[in-house]
Amino acid sequence: MRVIRLAGRLLPMLTLVLTLLSACDRADQGKAEITPDSGDRPYQASLVVFGTLVEITISGASPEQAAASVRRIETVFQKRHHDWHPWQPGLLADINQAFSNGHCHPADKETLELIRLAKRISAQSRGAFNPAIGKLIALWGFHDDEPQAGRPPPAPQAISALLATHPQMSDVHIKDGKVCSDNPAVALDLGGIAKGQAVDVAMQMLADHGIHNAIVNAGGDLRVRGRVGKGSHARAWRVGVRHPVSGGVLAEIDASGDEAIFTSGNYERFNEYEGVRYAHIIDPASGWPVHDINSATVILNNGAAADAWATALVVAGTQAARTLATRAGLTQVLLVNEAGEIWVSKAMMPRLHLDADASKIHVF
Ligand code: AMP
Ligand code: MG
Repeated sequence: MRVIRLAGRLLPMLTLVLTLLSACDRADQGKAEITPDSGDRPYQASLVVFGTLVEITISGASPEQAAASVRRIETVFQKRHHDWHPWQPGLLADINQAFSNGHCHPADKETLELIRLAKRISAQSRGAFNPAIGKLIALWGFHDDEPQAGRPPPAPQAISALLATHPQMSDVHIKDGKVCSDNPAVALDLGGIAKGQAVDVAMQMLADHGIHNAIVNAGGDLRVRGRVGKGSHARAWRVGVRHPVSGGVLAEIDASGDEAIFTSGNYERFNEYEGVRYAHIIDPASGWPVHDINSATVILNNGAAADAWATALVVAGTQAARTLATRAGLTQVLLVNEAGEIWVSKAMMPRLHLDADASKIHVF
């Protein structure tokens, strides 16, 4: 879990940790936990989607308004958890089954939109972001609620056999409300983008309820809107980005207006075998887990796109990530690599409070 700190006196770290713990206890019931606050302290609710604890913090709304919107978000999250889960039965599993049988499968508007966005970012990132490689991700053992620790990597022949089937997002087409694949080896795994979409949906639902000052934090990936506090005390939300190696705070960013801040890293989910760590993000070109970049943070005004790009940049590696980011017009990017280098895009640099040795920091 990445470290997130919010501005000023609002959420001392201890409170945040306690909230996380109590919410975890109740996660299985899938119930939103709402903590009514008095005065101008923000509202907080915790719920779970895709195995991630989502914290919703709302500023400047009535308790009733906040509670009602969080309940509706929870209903939508439950549906999307079922629809978009990478390995449990649901819509995505049905779509993948249809692909392997050479059939098309109907999907709702939002799922089709997500697949369209995934196709676009896959093309723009030259296949670094490739959610069509579900079979490869499963082969590495990550399609499991509790993957067996210390498992050996798959046989090289099994990896080569899957690579030879070339699953790509350009194989996937959308026609008349249905999703089809030219390639039966395509299996969609939206784990690199769905959380971003969930955060976007939550923020949109808050806006529909007249809530314009909020933060939706999905395990450290988040979207903020507006500001926190009232009147002349209103200020930006302060967000901490975790150092991928030390686990401390690498940087703090003041975020306001409408921004999504997403980080991908090779430290989040991994399998360790004989002293080597194998990350859950797979390079579609080699079929092996990524190395080189420890973490990539991307800020955009769209959570799904920020989520997908953060995953894509980790796959691309330090050099290609910079080229891809520049070409795609991503202006706010922070990369940390295994060499200990910190690469920051020019526009991100002035707003970053970095706690790092200046000789390690490079601007691009
Ligand atoms: P994230 O934490 O957003 O970087 O997403 C990681 C998840 O994305 C993994 O757990 C997989 O479900 C999926 N994934 C792994 N490798 C890729 C890839 N190259 N392109 C797209 N999705 C991937
Ligand atoms: Mg991602």
